[in-house]
Amino acid sequence: MTTAMQNATEEIRGGKMKVVDLTHPIDEHSPYWPEKVPGTPFRASTVATYQQDGCFTRNLVIPEHFGTHMDAPAHFDPKGDTIAQISAEKFLGPAVIIDVSGAAKSDADYRVRASDVQNWIELHGRIPLGALVLIRTGWEERWPSQARYMNTDSAGVMHFPGPLGGSSALPARPYPSGRNRNRHGQH
Ligand SMILES: [Zn+2]
Repeated sequence: MTTAMQNATEEIRGGKMKVVDLTHPIDEHSPYWPEKVPGTPFRASTVATYQQDGCFTRNLVIPEHFGTHMDAPAHFDPKGDTIAQISAEKFLGPAVIIDVSGAAKSDADYRVRASDVQNWIELHGRIPLGALVLIRTGWEERWPSQARYMNTDSAGVMHFPGPLGGSSALPARPYPSGRNRNRHGQH
């Protein structure tokens, strides 16, 4: 183990470095993207029990974009990397949190803007090269309510905040614009 990793491990164990778990447990009550078949797409069937088999196991069926998950570039780009093609090193690094929860509270369709990133930089300095950029929308407070999470209006259009949209000077490729009518907005 490298010294840096050793130090990090010791700091975590000693309580100096805080580990933040951003995941949610998933089950049939978790919010889901509406598909053709109504109701939750989460399926869990028991295949072994303590009583009969000495252990507990289930088979799970979920869409790959269910709950807390990672989208690979291949999700939008036919030539993009799949998850398996992304090296594990890329998942470690400094992280910054751009908090747009205030804006998303008054505008459910809020899209992160270049100015949000600029504001962060003005407050905290440059974003390190290769940093992980987390966007906080505040939408986690709605979990696990399907109705509040999807926020569907009377016309059947869902409203929730999303990544980069509008005019953006950011080097990252923006997500398709629109009022969250497409399935790209939430990931
Ligand atoms: Zn996804």
